[in-house]
Amino acid sequence: MMQDRRSNCGFTSKLSTLKIVDSLAEITRYKDRELLERSLAVTLSELFLSDEFRFYRITTVDVDGIIELRLSLLTYANQGVVISEHQIHEHELPPWLLELVTQAVETQALVERHDPENAATHILYPVYTKHDDIYGMLLHKSKQASFESRRLIYGLLRIYSNYLSLLEESHRDTLTNLLNREILDSEITKIIVSNAQYHDYAAAKRRRTLDGSHAWLCLLDVDHFKRINDEWGHLYGDEVLILLARQLENIFRKEDLLFRYGGEEFVALFRTFSCEDAQMVCERTRNTIAQYSFPGVGRVTISIGVAEITRQPGSSIVLGQADKALYYAKEHGRNQSCFYDNLLAQGLIEPQTINQSKSSIDFF
Ligand code: GH3
Ligand code: MG
Ligand code: MG
Repeated sequence: MMQDRRSNCGFTSKLSTLKIVDSLAEITRYKDRELLERSLAVTLSELFLSDEFRFYRITTVDVDGIIELRLSLLTYANQGVVISEHQIHEHELPPWLLELVTQAVETQALVERHDPENAATHILYPVYTKHDDIYGMLLHKSKQASFESRRLIYGLLRIYSNYLSLLEESHRDTLTNLLNREILDSEITKIIVSNAQYHDYAAAKRRRTLDGSHAWLCLLDVDHFKRINDEWGHLYGDEVLILLARQLENIFRKEDLLFRYGGEEFVALFRTFSCEDAQMVCERTRNTIAQYSFPGVGRVTISIGVAEITRQPGSSIVLGQADKALYYAKEHGRNQSCFYDNLLAQGLIEPQTINQSKSSIDFF
C-alpha cells in the first residue's frame, strides 16, 4: 500500500476538494434510496472518469434453512452517465464475481481481483448498515486504482451508509418499527409508474404486464380498538399494536412493504400473480389475527379493504378505493376483507371519484 500511495501522490491534487464536497452535497440531496444510489454511482463516475462502477443490492433469502445471497444490479455508471439499471440475478453474474462477493461477505472487507486480459483491477466494497447487515456492494473497475482512490471511495460509502441508516430510521414508526405514512405515497406512486412502463412494454409485446403480476394495497383497521383502550388502558392498546405489527411481519413476505398508516390502521403493499392469491393472502391475514390471543386482552379482529394498484392517477385514489372497501367491511359486520373491484362489480358501492380522493380521506 505504501508503494501504491507514493506512486499516486499526484492524485489528490487532481481531485479538487471542492469537487469532493460538491459530490457529498449531491449524494445527500436525495431522500429516496434509489435516487441516492444512482447519485452515488454517478458521482463516483464523475470523480473517476475513466472507471466503471456497478452498484448491487444484496438481500439474503432463507432457502430451507440455508441463507443464500441474492444480488441485483441497481446502477451501472461509466463516464458520469448511468448506462443501465437492470435487475439481474446471481446466475447471470460471472463466477469470479460471485467468488469475490462471497469473499467480501465473509471477510467484511474490500476485496479485489486483477484482470490481466483488460489490464484492470476489480475492487469490491461491501456496504453495511450500522447493525452490520449487508445491503450493498460497489464494484469498481479501474486501470489504475490508487491507495487514495480506494480511501476516498471507502469514505464516500461510509457517508452513504450512515446517511441511508438515518433516512431509514426517519421512515420508521417509533411504536411498531414498521414504515411510516411519510413514504407510503411515494411507494404507491412508484408502483403506478412502473405499471405504466410495464404496460407500454407489454402492449408492444402483446402481453398484460412484464411478469403478469398484480400489485395490491391492503388497508387494515383494528375492529373496536377504542374498546380495547377503554377496557384495558392505553398501554395494553399500544402492546396490541406492537404485537399486531409483528404478526403482520410474519404473515407477509420480506419483499412486501408494511406501514403503520395511523393510530390502529396499517397498510400492506404486495404483489401476487392472481386476484385469487390476493384474496387468499388477505383472508389468511385476517384469520391469523382473529385466532391469535393477545396477552391480557385476548382476541382482536381486523377489517381489511383492498384496492389493486393499476394506473390510477395518484396514490390518494388508490387509498380512497381501499378505504371505500374498508368502510363497506366495517358497515357489514367487521372481521372481513373486501375488495374494491369486487364490490364495484357487484354494484355494492359507487366508484371512487377524484374529488372524493382529493379531500382528506376519513379513515376509521
Ligand atoms: P372501528 O371498528 O369502527 O374501527 O372502531 P375503532 O374503535 O377501532 O375506531 P375509532 O376510530 O373509533 O377508534 C380508534 C381508536 O384508536 C381511538 C384512539 O384513541 C386509538 N388510538 C389511536 N392511536 C393510538 C395509539 O398509538 N395507541 C393506542 N393505545 N390507541 C390509539
Ligand atoms: Mg378501528
Ligand atoms: Mg381507524
